[in-house]
Amino acid sequence: MKMSRMFMPTLKEVPSDAEITSHQLMLRAGLIKKMSSGVYNQLPMGIRVFNKIQNIIREELNAKGCQEILCAGIIPSELWEESGRWTAMGEEMFRLKDRNQRDYCLGPTHEEVFTDIVRQEVTSYKQLPMNLYQIQVKYRDERRPRFGVMRTKTFTMKDAYSFDIDEAGLDKSYQDMYEAYTNIFNRCGLDHSPVQADSGAIGGSSSAEFMVKSEVGEDDVVFCSGCDYAANMEKAESVKYEAFKEEMKEIKEVSTPDVHTIEELEAFFKLHAGRFAKTLIYDADGKSVAVVVRGDRDVNETKVANAIGSVVEFELANEAMVQAATNAEIGFAGPIGVKTDYLFVDEEVAAQNNMIVGANKTGYHIENVNHGRDFEGVVGDFRNVNEGDKCPKCESALEIARGVEVGHIFKLGTKYSESMGANYIDKDGKSKPIIMGCYGIGVERTAAAVIEQHNDENGIIWPLSVAPYQVAVVPVNMKKEEHTEAAEKIYNELQAMGVEVLLDDRNERVGFKFKDLDLIGIPMRITVGKDIVDGKVEFKLRDQEEKELIGLDEIKSKIE
Ligand code: ATP
Ligand code: MG
Ligand code: MG
Ligand code: MG
Repeated sequence: MKMSRMFMPTLKEVPSDAEITSHQLMLRAGLIKKMSSGVYNQLPMGIRVFNKIQNIIREELNAKGCQEILCAGIIPSELWEESGRWTAMGEEMFRLKDRNQRDYCLGPTHEEVFTDIVRQEVTSYKQLPMNLYQIQVKYRDERRPRFGVMRTKTFTMKDAYSFDIDEAGLDKSYQDMYEAYTNIFNRCGLDHSPVQADSGAIGGSSSAEFMVKSEVGEDDVVFCSGCDYAANMEKAESVKYEAFKEEMKEIKEVSTPDVHTIEELEAFFKLHAGRFAKTLIYDADGKSVAVVVRGDRDVNETKVANAIGSVVEFELANEAMVQAATNAEIGFAGPIGVKTDYLFVDEEVAAQNNMIVGANKTGYHIENVNHGRDFEGVVGDFRNVNEGDKCPKCESALEIARGVEVGHIFKLGTKYSESMGANYIDKDGKSKPIIMGCYGIGVERTAAAVIEQHNDENGIIWPLSVAPYQVAVVPVNMKKEEHTEAAEKIYNELQAMGVEVLLDDRNERVGFKFKDLDLIGIPMRITVGKDIVDGKVEFKLRDQEEKELIGLDEIKSKIE
Protein backbone atom coordinates (compact mmCIF):
# COMPACT_ATOMS: atom_id res chain seq x y z
CA MET A 1 0.00 0.00 0.00
CA LYS A 2 1.24 3.45 -0.86
CA MET A 3 0.83 5.73 2.09
CA SER A 4 0.02 8.72 -0.09
CA ARG A 5 -3.23 6.93 -0.97
CA MET A 6 -3.99 5.54 2.42
CA PHE A 7 -6.91 6.51 4.63
CA MET A 8 -5.08 6.80 7.94
CA PRO A 9 -6.22 9.79 9.98
CA THR A 10 -3.49 9.94 12.64
CA LEU A 11 -3.59 12.43 15.49
CA LYS A 12 -0.69 14.38 17.00
CA GLU A 13 -2.52 15.22 20.21
CA VAL A 14 -3.65 12.74 22.83
CA PRO A 15 -7.47 12.71 22.57
CA SER A 16 -8.86 14.20 25.75
CA ASP A 17 -11.61 11.64 26.27
CA ALA A 18 -9.31 8.62 26.06
CA GLU A 19 -8.12 7.53 29.49
CA ILE A 20 -6.04 4.47 28.77
CA THR A 21 -3.03 3.92 26.52
CA SER A 22 -4.60 1.48 24.09
CA HIS A 23 -7.60 3.73 23.57
CA GLN A 24 -5.39 6.77 22.99
CA LEU A 25 -3.09 4.91 20.62
CA MET A 26 -5.91 3.31 18.65
CA LEU A 27 -7.39 6.75 18.04
CA ARG A 28 -4.05 8.41 17.39
CA ALA A 29 -2.88 5.72 14.98
CA GLY A 30 -6.16 5.92 13.09
CA LEU A 31 -7.35 2.38 13.80
CA ILE A 32 -10.83 3.31 14.95
CA LYS A 33 -13.16 6.27 14.96
CA LYS A 34 -15.82 6.95 17.56
CA MET A 35 -19.40 7.36 16.36
CA SER A 36 -21.14 7.64 19.74
CA SER A 37 -20.68 6.34 23.27
CA GLY A 38 -19.46 2.75 23.02
CA VAL A 39 -19.89 2.66 19.26
CA TYR A 40 -16.79 2.73 17.04
CA ASN A 41 -16.15 2.37 13.35
CA GLN A 42 -13.07 0.52 12.19
CA LEU A 43 -10.66 2.15 9.74
CA PRO A 44 -8.18 0.43 7.35
CA MET A 45 -5.31 0.16 9.83
CA GLY A 46 -7.64 -1.22 12.50
CA ILE A 47 -9.44 -3.70 10.31
CA ARG A 48 -6.13 -5.22 9.25
CA VAL A 49 -5.17 -5.87 12.86
CA PHE A 50 -8.61 -7.26 13.74
CA ASN A 51 -8.48 -9.52 10.68
CA LYS A 52 -5.06 -10.80 11.72
CA ILE A 53 -6.42 -11.75 15.11
CA GLN A 54 -9.46 -13.39 13.53
CA ASN A 55 -7.24 -15.45 11.25
CA ILE A 56 -5.08 -16.63 14.13
CA ILE A 57 -8.28 -17.68 15.89
CA ARG A 58 -9.51 -19.47 12.75
CA GLU A 59 -6.26 -21.35 12.27
CA GLU A 60 -6.11 -22.55 15.86
CA LEU A 61 -9.76 -23.57 16.01
CA ASN A 62 -9.69 -25.28 12.63
CA ALA A 63 -6.62 -27.17 13.83
CA LYS A 64 -8.78 -28.55 16.62
CA GLY A 65 -11.44 -29.65 14.17
CA CYS A 66 -13.88 -26.83 14.85
CA GLN A 67 -16.06 -25.71 11.94
CA GLU A 68 -16.92 -22.16 11.07
CA ILE A 69 -20.47 -21.04 10.37
CA LEU A 70 -22.14 -17.64 10.46
CA CYS A 71 -25.44 -16.99 12.19
CA ALA A 72 -27.74 -14.05 11.77
CA GLY A 73 -27.19 -11.21 14.22
CA ILE A 74 -30.89 -10.67 14.73
CA ILE A 75 -32.59 -13.38 16.76
CA PRO A 76 -36.32 -14.02 17.28
CA SER A 77 -37.53 -13.87 20.88
CA GLU A 78 -39.04 -17.37 20.72
CA LEU A 79 -35.64 -19.00 21.09
CA TRP A 80 -34.89 -16.93 24.17
CA GLU A 81 -38.31 -17.73 25.63
CA GLU A 82 -37.46 -21.40 25.34
CA SER A 83 -34.24 -21.07 27.29
CA GLY A 84 -35.80 -18.64 29.74
CA ARG A 85 -33.34 -15.89 28.90
CA TRP A 86 -35.70 -13.42 27.19
CA THR A 87 -36.35 -11.99 30.66
CA ALA A 88 -33.13 -13.03 32.34
CA MET A 89 -30.90 -11.10 29.93
CA GLY A 90 -32.38 -7.86 31.23
CA GLU A 91 -31.31 -4.46 30.03
CA GLU A 92 -28.08 -5.54 28.41
CA MET A 93 -30.05 -6.98 25.48
CA PHE A 94 -31.01 -4.71 22.60
CA ARG A 95 -34.59 -5.55 21.66
CA LEU A 96 -36.58 -4.62 18.57
CA LYS A 97 -39.82 -5.42 16.75
CA ASP A 98 -40.55 -6.07 13.10
CA ARG A 99 -43.48 -4.50 11.22
CA ASN A 100 -45.76 -7.26 12.49
CA GLN A 101 -44.82 -6.54 16.08
CA ARG A 102 -42.78 -9.71 16.47
CA ASP A 103 -39.99 -9.44 19.01
CA TYR A 104 -36.32 -9.85 18.19
CA CYS A 105 -33.04 -9.00 19.78
CA LEU A 106 -29.66 -8.07 18.41
CA GLY A 107 -27.64 -11.09 19.47
CA PRO A 108 -25.53 -10.50 22.58
CA THR A 109 -24.41 -14.18 22.47
CA HIS A 110 -25.63 -17.22 20.53
CA GLU A 111 -26.16 -20.26 22.78
CA GLU A 112 -29.83 -20.47 21.80
CA VAL A 113 -29.15 -20.11 18.08
CA PHE A 114 -26.46 -22.80 17.98
CA THR A 115 -28.57 -25.12 20.12
CA ASP A 116 -31.46 -24.57 17.71
CA ILE A 117 -29.33 -25.38 14.67
CA VAL A 118 -27.96 -28.52 16.22
CA ARG A 119 -31.23 -29.88 17.60
CA GLN A 120 -32.73 -29.80 14.10
CA GLU A 121 -29.93 -31.76 12.50
CA VAL A 122 -28.37 -33.98 15.12
CA THR A 123 -30.31 -37.10 16.09
CA SER A 124 -27.70 -39.77 16.73
CA TYR A 125 -24.59 -40.20 18.84
CA LYS A 126 -22.84 -40.97 15.54
CA GLN A 127 -23.01 -37.29 14.59
CA LEU A 128 -21.18 -36.17 17.71
CA PRO A 129 -18.87 -34.68 18.95
CA MET A 130 -19.03 -31.41 17.07
CA ASN A 131 -17.69 -27.94 17.65
CA LEU A 132 -19.16 -25.04 15.67
CA TYR A 133 -18.00 -21.46 15.80
CA GLN A 134 -18.55 -18.11 14.20
CA ILE A 135 -16.78 -14.78 14.15
CA GLN A 136 -19.56 -12.30 14.35
CA VAL A 137 -20.72 -8.97 15.63
CA LYS A 138 -22.36 -8.93 19.05
CA TYR A 139 -24.58 -6.28 20.56
CA ARG A 140 -24.71 -5.50 24.26
CA ASP A 141 -26.19 -2.44 25.85
CA GLU A 142 -23.37 -2.14 28.37
CA ARG A 143 -24.08 -0.07 31.43
CA ARG A 144 -20.68 1.56 31.17
CA PRO A 145 -19.11 1.35 27.75
CA ARG A 146 -15.56 2.58 28.11
CA PHE A 147 -11.89 2.46 27.29
CA GLY A 148 -12.43 2.54 23.54
CA VAL A 149 -12.99 -0.91 22.09
CA MET A 150 -12.30 -2.63 25.42
CA ARG A 151 -15.99 -2.36 26.28
CA THR A 152 -18.34 -1.36 23.52
CA LYS A 153 -21.99 -1.78 22.66
CA THR A 154 -21.10 -3.67 19.52
CA PHE A 155 -17.98 -5.77 19.06
CA THR A 156 -16.69 -8.77 17.19
CA MET A 157 -16.69 -12.02 19.08
CA LYS A 158 -15.53 -15.46 18.16
CA ASP A 159 -18.03 -17.70 19.83
CA ALA A 160 -17.77 -21.46 19.69
CA TYR A 161 -20.09 -24.14 21.01
CA SER A 162 -19.22 -27.78 21.59
CA PHE A 163 -21.69 -30.67 21.48
CA ASP A 164 -20.83 -33.97 23.10
CA ILE A 165 -22.53 -37.17 24.16
CA ASP A 166 -21.10 -37.32 27.67
CA GLU A 167 -19.01 -35.56 30.32
CA ALA A 168 -15.80 -37.19 29.13
CA GLY A 169 -16.46 -35.80 25.68
CA LEU A 170 -17.08 -32.36 27.12
CA ASP A 171 -13.84 -32.58 29.11
CA LYS A 172 -11.97 -33.27 25.90
CA SER A 173 -13.71 -30.45 23.99
CA TYR A 174 -13.00 -28.06 26.84
CA GLN A 175 -9.36 -29.11 27.02
CA ASP A 176 -9.00 -28.67 23.25
CA MET A 177 -10.33 -25.14 23.49
CA TYR A 178 -8.12 -24.41 26.46
CA GLU A 179 -5.13 -25.37 24.34
CA ALA A 180 -6.38 -23.46 21.31
CA TYR A 181 -6.87 -20.34 23.44
CA THR A 182 -3.41 -20.65 24.90
CA ASN A 183 -1.97 -20.86 21.37
CA ILE A 184 -4.09 -17.97 20.12
CA PHE A 185 -3.08 -15.56 22.87
CA ASN A 186 0.56 -16.65 22.67
CA ARG A 187 0.57 -16.00 18.95
CA CYS A 188 -0.92 -12.55 19.57
CA GLY A 189 2.08 -11.81 21.77
CA LEU A 190 0.00 -11.57 24.93
CA ASP A 191 1.35 -12.36 28.35
CA HIS A 192 -1.82 -14.00 29.65
CA SER A 193 -3.03 -16.41 32.30
CA PRO A 194 -6.04 -18.67 32.39
CA VAL A 195 -7.81 -18.24 35.73
CA GLN A 196 -10.60 -20.23 37.31
CA ALA A 197 -13.91 -18.51 36.96
CA ASP A 198 -17.22 -19.09 38.61
CA SER A 199 -19.75 -20.76 36.46
CA GLY A 200 -22.59 -19.69 38.72
CA ALA A 201 -25.01 -17.84 36.49
CA ILE A 202 -25.06 -20.17 33.53
CA GLY A 203 -25.06 -23.17 35.77
CA GLY A 204 -22.10 -24.97 34.32
CA SER A 205 -19.53 -26.98 36.16
CA SER A 206 -16.23 -25.50 35.05
CA SER A 207 -15.05 -22.27 33.56
CA ALA A 208 -11.84 -20.36 32.88
CA GLU A 209 -11.20 -16.79 31.90
CA PHE A 210 -8.13 -15.84 29.91
CA MET A 211 -6.77 -12.76 31.59
CA VAL A 212 -4.17 -10.29 30.48
CA LYS A 213 -2.55 -8.70 33.52
CA SER A 214 -2.90 -4.97 33.14
CA GLU A 215 -3.45 -1.93 35.34
CA VAL A 216 -6.34 -0.90 33.14
CA GLY A 217 -8.17 -4.20 33.55
CA GLU A 218 -11.66 -4.01 34.98
CA ASP A 219 -11.41 -7.34 36.78
CA ASP A 220 -9.57 -8.32 39.95
CA VAL A 221 -7.62 -11.51 39.55
CA VAL A 222 -6.22 -13.55 42.43
CA PHE A 223 -2.87 -15.29 41.94
CA CYS A 224 -0.95 -17.47 44.35
CA SER A 225 2.67 -16.54 44.99
CA GLY A 226 3.55 -20.16 45.69
CA CYS A 227 1.64 -22.34 43.24
CA ASP A 228 -0.38 -22.17 40.04
CA TYR A 229 -3.70 -21.30 41.70
CA ALA A 230 -5.30 -18.41 39.86
CA ALA A 231 -8.92 -17.36 39.96
CA ASN A 232 -11.03 -14.37 39.20
CA MET A 233 -12.32 -12.49 42.23
CA GLU A 234 -15.82 -14.01 42.17
CA LYS A 235 -14.41 -17.49 42.11
CA ALA A 236 -11.83 -16.77 44.81
CA GLU A 237 -14.59 -15.28 46.95
CA SER A 238 -16.83 -18.25 46.57
CA VAL A 239 -13.98 -20.61 47.38
CA LYS A 240 -13.32 -18.66 50.57
CA TYR A 241 -17.00 -18.57 51.35
CA GLU A 242 -17.42 -22.31 50.92
CA ALA A 243 -14.55 -22.85 53.33
CA PHE A 244 -16.22 -20.48 55.78
CA LYS A 245 -19.51 -22.34 55.58
CA GLU A 246 -17.70 -25.53 56.47
CA GLU A 247 -16.27 -23.87 59.60
CA MET A 248 -19.63 -22.42 60.56
CA LYS A 249 -21.27 -25.80 60.78
CA GLU A 250 -19.72 -26.17 64.20
CA ILE A 251 -21.13 -23.07 65.79
CA LYS A 252 -24.22 -23.19 68.02
CA GLU A 253 -27.58 -21.90 67.04
CA VAL A 254 -28.88 -18.83 68.87
CA SER A 255 -31.79 -17.38 67.04
CA THR A 256 -34.75 -18.66 65.14
CA PRO A 257 -35.82 -16.69 62.14
CA ASP A 258 -39.28 -16.72 60.63
CA VAL A 259 -38.96 -18.88 57.64
CA HIS A 260 -39.88 -17.36 54.34
CA THR A 261 -39.97 -18.99 50.95
CA ILE A 262 -36.88 -19.46 48.89
CA GLU A 263 -38.75 -18.26 45.83
CA GLU A 264 -39.44 -14.92 47.46
CA LEU A 265 -35.89 -14.50 48.52
CA GLU A 266 -34.67 -15.40 45.10
CA ALA A 267 -37.06 -12.92 43.57
CA PHE A 268 -35.72 -10.28 45.91
CA PHE A 269 -32.17 -10.80 44.86
CA LYS A 270 -33.11 -10.79 41.24
CA LEU A 271 -35.00 -7.57 41.69
CA HIS A 272 -32.21 -5.86 43.57
CA ALA A 273 -29.31 -7.07 41.56
CA GLY A 274 -27.36 -3.89 42.27
CA ARG A 275 -27.52 -4.42 46.01
CA PHE A 276 -26.77 -7.96 46.62
CA ALA A 277 -25.83 -9.45 49.89
CA LYS A 278 -22.10 -9.41 50.29
CA THR A 279 -22.05 -11.39 53.47
CA LEU A 280 -24.61 -13.54 55.08
CA ILE A 281 -24.97 -13.62 58.81
CA TYR A 282 -25.68 -17.09 59.97
CA ASP A 283 -27.16 -19.01 62.66
CA ALA A 284 -25.51 -22.21 63.59
CA ASP A 285 -27.29 -24.60 61.30
CA GLY A 286 -26.07 -22.65 58.42
CA LYS A 287 -29.51 -21.14 58.05
CA SER A 288 -28.83 -17.51 57.48
CA VAL A 289 -30.52 -15.18 59.90
CA ALA A 290 -29.51 -11.94 58.38
CA VAL A 291 -28.06 -10.38 55.35
CA VAL A 292 -25.36 -7.75 55.31
CA VAL A 293 -25.97 -5.32 52.57
CA ARG A 294 -23.56 -2.74 51.31
CA GLY A 295 -24.36 0.25 49.19
CA ASP A 296 -24.83 0.16 45.46
CA ARG A 297 -22.13 -1.56 43.59
CA ASP A 298 -21.71 -2.76 40.07
CA VAL A 299 -22.32 -6.42 39.98
CA ASN A 300 -22.33 -8.79 37.14
CA GLU A 301 -24.63 -11.65 36.54
CA THR A 302 -22.31 -14.16 38.09
CA LYS A 303 -21.95 -12.28 41.34
CA VAL A 304 -25.66 -11.95 41.75
CA ALA A 305 -26.14 -15.56 40.95
CA ASN A 306 -23.58 -16.45 43.58
CA ALA A 307 -25.54 -14.49 46.11
CA ILE A 308 -28.72 -16.22 45.08
CA GLY A 309 -27.08 -19.58 45.13
CA SER A 310 -25.68 -19.00 48.56
CA VAL A 311 -28.95 -17.96 50.04
CA VAL A 312 -31.23 -20.49 48.53
CA GLU A 313 -29.01 -23.18 49.78
CA PHE A 314 -30.21 -22.35 53.24
CA GLU A 315 -33.77 -22.28 54.29
CA LEU A 316 -34.49 -19.01 55.65
CA ALA A 317 -34.94 -15.27 55.97
CA ASN A 318 -37.82 -13.37 57.38
CA GLU A 319 -39.70 -10.56 55.84
CA ALA A 320 -38.00 -7.92 57.91
CA MET A 321 -34.62 -8.84 56.65
CA VAL A 322 -35.77 -8.77 53.13
CA GLN A 323 -37.39 -5.42 53.69
CA ALA A 324 -34.32 -4.06 55.38
CA ALA A 325 -32.00 -5.38 52.80
CA THR A 326 -34.16 -3.70 50.21
CA ASN A 327 -33.65 -0.29 51.71
CA ALA A 328 -30.41 -0.44 53.57
CA GLU A 329 -27.44 1.53 52.46
CA ILE A 330 -25.03 0.17 55.01
CA GLY A 331 -25.94 -1.99 57.90
CA PHE A 332 -27.45 -5.33 58.28
CA ALA A 333 -30.89 -6.60 58.70
CA GLY A 334 -31.76 -9.02 61.40
CA PRO A 335 -34.94 -10.32 62.97
CA ILE A 336 -37.01 -7.43 64.28
CA GLY A 337 -36.58 -6.65 67.91
CA VAL A 338 -34.55 -9.71 68.61
CA LYS A 339 -31.45 -8.99 70.53
CA THR A 340 -29.24 -11.32 68.72
CA ASP A 341 -26.50 -12.82 70.76
CA TYR A 342 -24.53 -14.49 68.19
CA LEU A 343 -23.97 -13.22 64.71
CA PHE A 344 -21.18 -13.62 62.29
CA VAL A 345 -20.24 -10.24 61.04
CA ASP A 346 -17.99 -9.01 58.34
CA GLU A 347 -14.93 -7.20 59.78
CA GLU A 348 -15.54 -4.07 57.83
CA VAL A 349 -19.13 -3.90 58.99
CA ALA A 350 -18.26 -4.62 62.59
CA ALA A 351 -15.84 -1.71 62.57
CA GLN A 352 -18.72 0.66 61.98
CA ASN A 353 -20.47 1.89 65.10
CA ASN A 354 -23.52 3.05 63.29
CA MET A 355 -24.84 -0.28 62.26
CA ILE A 356 -28.55 -0.68 61.97
CA VAL A 357 -30.21 -3.83 63.11
CA GLY A 358 -33.67 -4.69 62.00
CA ALA A 359 -35.74 -3.56 59.13
CA ASN A 360 -34.69 -0.28 57.68
CA LYS A 361 -38.12 1.17 58.16
CA THR A 362 -39.30 3.67 60.74
CA GLY A 363 -39.89 2.00 64.07
CA TYR A 364 -38.48 -1.26 62.95
CA HIS A 365 -34.84 -0.87 63.58
CA ILE A 366 -32.30 -0.11 66.24
CA GLU A 367 -29.71 2.43 65.22
CA ASN A 368 -26.11 2.75 66.36
CA VAL A 369 -25.75 -0.81 67.26
CA ASN A 370 -22.34 -1.81 68.42
CA HIS A 371 -20.76 -5.10 67.83
CA GLY A 372 -19.73 -6.48 71.19
CA ARG A 373 -22.05 -4.24 73.18
CA ASP A 374 -25.39 -5.10 71.58
CA PHE A 375 -24.61 -8.45 70.23
CA GLU A 376 -21.87 -10.95 70.40
CA GLY A 377 -20.54 -12.42 67.32
CA VAL A 378 -17.75 -13.86 65.38
CA VAL A 379 -16.08 -11.18 63.39
CA GLY A 380 -14.39 -12.13 60.22
CA ASP A 381 -13.99 -11.43 56.59
CA PHE A 382 -15.81 -14.37 55.14
CA ARG A 383 -16.02 -13.54 51.52
CA ASN A 384 -13.68 -10.71 50.60
CA VAL A 385 -10.38 -12.01 49.40
CA ASN A 386 -7.46 -9.80 50.31
CA GLU A 387 -3.83 -9.56 49.32
CA GLY A 388 -1.86 -11.88 51.61
CA ASP A 389 -4.74 -14.27 52.34
CA LYS A 390 -3.77 -17.91 52.35
CA CYS A 391 -3.99 -19.78 49.09
CA PRO A 392 -6.73 -22.44 49.29
CA LYS A 393 -4.42 -24.87 47.54
CA CYS A 394 -0.98 -24.40 49.10
CA GLU A 395 -1.43 -21.77 51.87
CA SER A 396 1.12 -19.36 50.36
CA ALA A 397 0.17 -15.69 50.23
CA LEU A 398 -2.30 -14.60 47.56
CA GLU A 399 -1.68 -11.64 45.30
CA ILE A 400 -4.29 -9.53 43.60
CA ALA A 401 -3.76 -7.95 40.21
CA ARG A 402 -5.94 -6.21 37.66
CA GLY A 403 -6.73 -8.10 34.49
CA VAL A 404 -8.48 -7.75 31.16
CA GLU A 405 -10.73 -10.68 30.26
CA VAL A 406 -9.92 -11.46 26.64
CA GLY A 407 -11.44 -14.92 26.48
CA HIS A 408 -13.75 -17.20 28.37
CA ILE A 409 -14.35 -20.94 28.15
CA PHE A 410 -17.23 -22.61 29.83
CA LYS A 411 -18.74 -26.02 30.45
CA LEU A 412 -22.46 -25.51 29.99
CA GLY A 413 -23.63 -29.06 30.55
CA THR A 414 -27.26 -29.59 29.59
CA LYS A 415 -28.74 -26.22 30.46
CA TYR A 416 -29.63 -25.33 26.87
CA SER A 417 -30.07 -28.80 25.48
CA GLU A 418 -32.59 -29.67 28.19
CA SER A 419 -34.59 -26.47 28.05
CA MET A 420 -34.59 -26.44 24.25
CA GLY A 421 -34.88 -30.15 23.62
CA ALA A 422 -31.57 -30.81 21.88
CA ASN A 423 -31.35 -34.58 22.27
CA TYR A 424 -29.60 -37.44 20.57
CA ILE A 425 -30.21 -41.17 20.52
CA ASP A 426 -27.45 -43.04 22.31
CA LYS A 427 -25.98 -46.44 21.42
CA ASP A 428 -28.52 -48.13 23.67
CA GLY A 429 -31.42 -46.42 21.87
CA LYS A 430 -32.14 -43.98 24.70
CA SER A 431 -32.76 -40.29 24.10
CA LYS A 432 -30.33 -38.05 26.01
CA PRO A 433 -29.63 -34.32 26.15
CA ILE A 434 -26.50 -33.16 24.32
CA ILE A 435 -23.71 -31.94 26.62
CA MET A 436 -22.54 -28.48 25.66
CA GLY A 437 -19.71 -26.03 26.18
CA CYS A 438 -19.31 -22.43 25.02
CA TYR A 439 -16.18 -20.45 24.29
CA GLY A 440 -15.73 -16.74 23.54
CA ILE A 441 -12.98 -14.35 22.50
CA GLY A 442 -13.38 -10.61 22.00
CA VAL A 443 -11.47 -9.60 18.88
CA GLU A 444 -11.15 -5.85 19.38
CA ARG A 445 -10.55 -6.21 23.11
CA THR A 446 -7.72 -8.62 22.34
CA ALA A 447 -6.17 -6.01 20.01
CA ALA A 448 -6.49 -3.37 22.73
CA ALA A 449 -4.84 -5.71 25.24
CA VAL A 450 -1.95 -6.28 22.83
CA ILE A 451 -1.41 -2.52 22.64
CA GLU A 452 -1.52 -2.24 26.45
CA GLN A 453 1.36 -4.70 26.62
CA HIS A 454 3.29 -3.50 23.56
CA ASN A 455 3.88 0.24 23.36
CA ASP A 456 6.34 3.01 24.24
CA GLU A 457 6.20 6.80 24.37
CA ASN A 458 6.27 6.94 20.56
CA GLY A 459 3.36 4.63 19.90
CA ILE A 460 2.33 1.06 19.31
CA ILE A 461 4.89 -1.75 18.91
CA TRP A 462 2.93 -4.46 17.09
CA PRO A 463 4.12 -8.04 17.40
CA LEU A 464 4.74 -9.25 13.85
CA SER A 465 1.84 -11.69 14.05
CA VAL A 466 -0.85 -9.02 14.35
CA ALA A 467 0.83 -5.98 12.76
CA PRO A 468 -1.29 -4.27 10.10
CA TYR A 469 1.76 -4.26 7.84
CA GLN A 470 5.06 -5.96 8.53
CA VAL A 471 7.43 -3.57 6.75
CA ALA A 472 7.53 0.09 5.80
CA VAL A 473 9.83 1.35 3.06
CA VAL A 474 10.74 5.02 3.44
CA PRO A 475 12.45 7.15 0.83
CA VAL A 476 14.35 9.91 2.70
CA ASN A 477 13.96 12.65 0.14
CA MET A 478 10.96 12.64 -2.16
CA LYS A 479 12.72 15.04 -4.50
CA LYS A 480 15.59 12.64 -5.16
CA GLU A 481 14.73 10.11 -7.80
CA GLU A 482 17.40 7.66 -6.66
CA HIS A 483 15.62 7.48 -3.29
CA THR A 484 12.08 7.22 -4.60
CA GLU A 485 12.90 4.80 -7.39
CA ALA A 486 14.93 2.43 -5.25
CA ALA A 487 12.26 2.55 -2.55
CA GLU A 488 9.55 1.72 -5.02
CA LYS A 489 11.61 -1.16 -6.39
CA ILE A 490 12.14 -2.64 -2.92
CA TYR A 491 8.45 -2.14 -2.20
CA ASN A 492 7.45 -4.00 -5.37
CA GLU A 493 9.85 -6.84 -4.66
CA LEU A 494 8.64 -7.29 -1.11
CA GLN A 495 5.06 -7.22 -2.27
CA ALA A 496 5.83 -9.89 -4.84
CA MET A 497 7.27 -11.99 -2.00
CA GLY A 498 3.94 -11.71 -0.22
CA VAL A 499 5.20 -9.36 2.48
CA GLU A 500 2.66 -6.86 3.75
CA VAL A 501 4.47 -3.66 3.01
CA LEU A 502 3.86 0.08 3.11
CA LEU A 503 5.64 2.55 0.87
CA ASP A 504 5.81 5.93 2.57
CA ASP A 505 5.65 7.99 -0.59
CA ARG A 506 4.07 10.99 1.11
CA ASN A 507 5.53 14.38 0.34
CA GLU A 508 6.69 14.88 3.90
CA ARG A 509 9.98 15.23 5.73
CA VAL A 510 11.55 11.97 6.78
CA GLY A 511 11.28 12.84 10.50
CA PHE A 512 7.53 13.23 10.11
CA LYS A 513 7.29 9.84 8.41
CA PHE A 514 9.33 8.12 11.12
CA LYS A 515 7.04 9.57 13.78
CA ASP A 516 3.95 8.26 12.03
CA LEU A 517 5.44 4.82 11.44
CA ASP A 518 6.48 4.60 15.09
CA LEU A 519 2.98 5.65 16.13
CA ILE A 520 1.26 3.00 14.01
CA GLY A 521 3.84 0.48 15.15
CA ILE A 522 5.10 -1.12 11.95
CA PRO A 523 7.64 -3.77 13.11
CA MET A 524 10.31 -3.26 10.41
CA ARG A 525 11.49 -0.14 8.62
CA ILE A 526 13.69 0.13 5.55
CA THR A 527 14.96 3.65 4.87
CA VAL A 528 16.31 4.51 1.44
CA GLY A 529 18.71 7.49 1.62
CA LYS A 530 22.17 8.61 0.60
CA ASP A 531 23.75 5.17 0.97
CA ILE A 532 21.69 3.84 -1.88
CA VAL A 533 24.52 4.91 -4.18
CA ASP A 534 26.53 2.11 -2.53
CA GLY A 535 23.56 -0.24 -2.79
CA LYS A 536 22.80 0.07 0.94
CA VAL A 537 19.68 0.90 2.95
CA GLU A 538 19.02 1.40 6.64
CA PHE A 539 17.17 -1.38 8.46
CA LYS A 540 15.48 -0.80 11.83
CA LEU A 541 13.18 -2.79 14.07
CA ARG A 542 10.41 -0.86 15.84
CA ASP A 543 11.23 -2.40 19.21
CA GLN A 544 14.98 -1.73 19.05
CA GLU A 545 17.11 1.38 19.01
CA GLU A 546 19.87 0.16 16.69
CA LYS A 547 19.85 0.92 13.01
CA GLU A 548 21.83 -1.15 10.60
CA LEU A 549 23.13 -0.46 7.11
CA ILE A 550 22.48 -3.48 4.97
CA GLY A 551 22.95 -4.36 1.33
CA LEU A 552 19.93 -4.61 -0.95
CA ASP A 553 20.61 -8.33 -1.28
CA GLU A 554 20.33 -8.75 2.49
CA ILE A 555 16.77 -7.39 2.76
CA LYS A 556 15.15 -10.67 1.97
CA SER A 557 16.96 -12.58 4.70
CA LYS A 558 16.25 -9.82 7.25
CA ILE A 559 12.57 -9.97 6.64
CA GLU A 560 12.05 -13.69 6.60
P1 ATP B 1 -17.04 -8.64 30.80
O1 ATP B 1 -16.89 -9.40 32.07
O2 ATP B 1 -15.84 -7.83 30.46
O3 ATP B 1 -18.32 -7.86 30.71
P2 ATP B 1 -18.22 -10.92 29.65
O4 ATP B 1 -17.84 -11.91 30.69
O5 ATP B 1 -19.58 -10.32 29.69
O6 ATP B 1 -17.13 -9.73 29.62
P3 ATP B 1 -18.37 -12.97 27.66
O7 ATP B 1 -19.84 -13.08 27.58
O8 ATP B 1 -17.62 -14.01 28.41
O9 ATP B 1 -17.96 -11.52 28.19
O10 ATP B 1 -17.83 -12.81 26.16
C1 ATP B 1 -16.63 -13.35 25.65
C2 ATP B 1 -15.61 -12.28 25.34
O11 ATP B 1 -16.15 -11.18 24.60
C3 ATP B 1 -15.02 -11.61 26.57
O12 ATP B 1 -14.05 -12.43 27.16
C4 ATP B 1 -14.44 -10.33 25.98
O13 ATP B 1 -13.20 -10.59 25.35
C5 ATP B 1 -15.44 -9.99 24.89
N1 ATP B 1 -16.39 -8.94 25.32
C6 ATP B 1 -17.45 -9.09 26.15
N2 ATP B 1 -18.12 -7.93 26.28
C7 ATP B 1 -17.48 -7.04 25.51
C8 ATP B 1 -17.70 -5.66 25.20
N3 ATP B 1 -18.74 -5.01 25.71
N4 ATP B 1 -16.84 -5.04 24.37
C9 ATP B 1 -15.80 -5.68 23.82
N5 ATP B 1 -15.54 -7.00 24.06
C10 ATP B 1 -16.37 -7.67 24.89
MG1 MG C 1 -20.22 -8.48 30.31
MG1 MG D 1 -16.72 -11.44 32.49
MG1 MG E 1 -16.99 -13.81 30.40
